[in-house]
Amino acid sequence: MQINASSSKDEWLKKVFIEVFGPDKFKKEDGGRLDLQIFRSDRNLTLIGGIILKFHPSCDRCLTSFAKQEQVPIHQIMAPAHTKGKKKVEMDVEDEDFGYYKNDEIDLSDVAKEYILLAQQMVNLCNEECKGLCQKCRKNLNNGPCKCKVKKEKDSPFAVLKKLH
Ligand SMILES: [Zn+2]
Ligand SMILES: [Zn+2]
Repeated sequence: MQINASSSKDEWLKKVFIEVFGPDKFKKEDGGRLDLQIFRSDRNLTLIGGIILKFHPSCDRCLTSFAKQEQVPIHQIMAPAHTKGKKKVEMDVEDEDFGYYKNDEIDLSDVAKEYILLAQQMVNLCNEECKGLCQKCRKNLNNGPCKCKVKKEKDSPFAVLKKLH
């Protein structure tokens, strides 16, 4: 048995994104798509697919908001809730890839949320070479050097050595 769930137009997915990121990081022009295939084997369901999403995180270095497209792969195995506590299905899976479903229903928004949250532990950089902010004056160094740089050279370790002698 196989179910295909392609939910590009579904509002619920947008709701999940806004819940995870907040309205300031998920703008009007942002969006996403969930492509999922569900396979049933015996009583267990295997969900394989992914989420493609566009959002506006802020850069971890310079704090600027930027557009990012991200692919979040999904691989989840779900067993009926009443088997909970019984010996874990003999399968080689990590805990985060394993879940339970109740009353023959899977809440896809729960699954989507979990995987998006996991993916958010990655760093967000507006650019691999982002220079970040000056630690002193907080100027965005991607827009050019700040004046603190000159001072920094005077504060080199050698200056300290000179003082000691
Ligand atoms: Zn940056
Ligand atoms: Zn500076």
